[in-house]
Amino acid sequence: MQSVDVVVIGAGFAGLTAARELGHAGLDVLTLEARDRVGGRTWTEHRLGHDLELGANWIHWVQPHVWAEMTRYGREMIRSPRADEAYWRGADGSARAGTLDEFMALIDAGQQLVIDDVRTAIPRGSDPTVGAIQDLDRLSIQDRFDALGLDPEARAANESVWVGHVNAPLDQVGLSSALRWVAATGGHWQLMHEASSTYRVVDGMRGFTDLMAADVPGEIRFNTTVTAVTADGDGDGAIVETSDGTQIRARRVVSTLPVNAIAGIRFEPTLPAVWQRQSTETVASQGTKVWLRAQGHVPRFFAYGSQHDALSVLKAEFYLSDEQGDYTLLVGFGPEHARIDPEDLPGLQAAVDAVRPGLEITDATAHDWMTDPLARNTWMTHRPGQLTRDLAELREPAGAIHFATTDNANLWGGFIDGAIESGLREARRILDALA
Ligand SMILES: Cc1cc2nc3c(=O)[nH]c(=O)nc-3n(C[C@H](O)[C@H](O)[C@H](O)COP(=O)(O)OP(=O)(O)OC[C@H]3O[C@@H](n4cnc5c(N)ncnc54)[C@H](O)[C@@H]3O)c2cc1C
Repeated sequence: MQSVDVVVIGAGFAGLTAARELGHAGLDVLTLEARDRVGGRTWTEHRLGHDLELGANWIHWVQPHVWAEMTRYGREMIRSPRADEAYWRGADGSARAGTLDEFMALIDAGQQLVIDDVRTAIPRGSDPTVGAIQDLDRLSIQDRFDALGLDPEARAANESVWVGHVNAPLDQVGLSSALRWVAATGGHWQLMHEASSTYRVVDGMRGFTDLMAADVPGEIRFNTTVTAVTADGDGDGAIVETSDGTQIRARRVVSTLPVNAIAGIRFEPTLPAVWQRQSTETVASQGTKVWLRAQGHVPRFFAYGSQHDALSVLKAEFYLSDEQGDYTLLVGFGPEHARIDPEDLPGLQAAVDAVRPGLEITDATAHDWMTDPLARNTWMTHRPGQLTRDLAELREPAGAIHFATTDNANLWGGFIDGAIESGLREARRILDALA
C-alpha cells in the first residue's frame, strides 16, 4: 500500500493551496482529484467562441488571500464592461429602464439600511461570528427587508440586487451573508458590490490554477474519486480508498469537499455531527450561471430580475464576431438552478425577455453545479442560523482528518479567497501537528 504524509482530497483552490504549502515544507503530499482538471468550481472553457468562466469569475484586491496569490504568480486583472443602460423591475413587476447612475441612486439608501448595523453586528470581518451577529443570525435577508419599510419601488430594486449576490431566494439566506461580506469590505456596500462582480483574471482562472498546480511539489492524480476515509483508532493516520479500490495510507488527510458534497465520501468513524447536520440541511445557495449568445452588438447593459424570475442578473460581457455576424455574450445568474435549462432556447429567450426585452438569444451554455456530485453548490451562502451555530466547529479536525474549504473560511467564506484561507490554515495546523 502506498504511504504518504498527507493526502489532499480535491484540487480546487483550497486543495492546491494546502498541497503546495505542505509540499514546500518538505512533506510527501498526494492530491487526489476526481475531475480531469484542477480548479474545482473555477473552470475556464472555450465555448460560444470565447474562453468563458463556467464557475467563479471575479476577484478583487480587497480579498487578501487571493490577491497574495495574484502577486505570487504575476496575474493581472481586467475590468468587466461598465454598463451604459440599466434595467430592473418596478414594484408592480413591470420593466424599468434607465442609466446605471439612476439605478445606483435608487438603491443607495436601501443598500445602506440593509447593512447599517454592520459595525456592531460583525466589527471585524476576519471574525464573522463575533458581535451582535449572534442575535441577528436567526434573520434572513428577507426578514430584514420586511422590517425596513422601504418605498416599494426602492425595495424591489434593492431586493433584486441581493438576490443576485446570494444566488437563492432571500427568505432562505441568512442576513449574515450580507453582513459578513460588507464587514469584509470595511462596512462599505459599494466596495462589496465592486469586489464581488467587477474584475476578472487575465488568462482566466485556468491560467491561475495551472500555475498553482505547477507549484505543487507532489503528484496531483486526476480522475481519482475518493470513496472512503477510514481513520486509525489512535487518530494518528487514515486510509484513503478510491473508486478503483486503491488504498493509500496517510498520516493526515485534508478534505476540501464542500459541505453539500461531503456525503460523497464514507468516513469511518462517521463525521462529527456538525458535518452531518450541514450535509443534510445543505447551505442556502442554489443558483445558476449561464452564458448566452445574443444577436448583434447590443448596448452595454445590466439587468436585474426579481427573485421569482429565472434570471436575477443579466449583463453584457464580451463583444465578438464570426461568420454568422456580430454577437454579444451575456452572462446571467438565477436564484434557482432548476429554472434554467441551457438546452431550452425558447425558455431562455423568455427568461431574457422578462428582464431585458429586445434581445435575440441564439445559443447558450452552462454547467449545473448544484447537480454536479463533486460540488452540489455554487458560491456558498448560509441559511439563517448556520453561520454562528456551525462555522467554528466545521473548522475542527476530526482526528487525522482536516477540513479545508471555502465553506469554513472566516473572511470571504464562499469565495475563492476563502478557499485559499482555508488551505493555508489547515496546512499550518498539519505542519504544527507533525512537527
Ligand atoms: C457559478 C459560480 C460562480 C462563482 N463566482 C465566484 C466569483 O466570481 N468569485 C469568487 O471568489 N468565487 C466565486 N464562486 C465560488 C468559488 O468558485 C468557490 O468558492 C471556490 O472555487 C471553492 O474552492 P474550494 O477549493 O473550497 O472548493 P472546490 O473548488 O469545490 O474544490 C473541491 C474539489 O474537490 C474535488 N472533489 C470533490 N469530491 C471529490 C472526491 N470524492 N474525490 C476526489 N475529489 C473530489 C472537486 O472535483 C473539486 O475539484 C463561484 C462559484 C460558482 C459555482
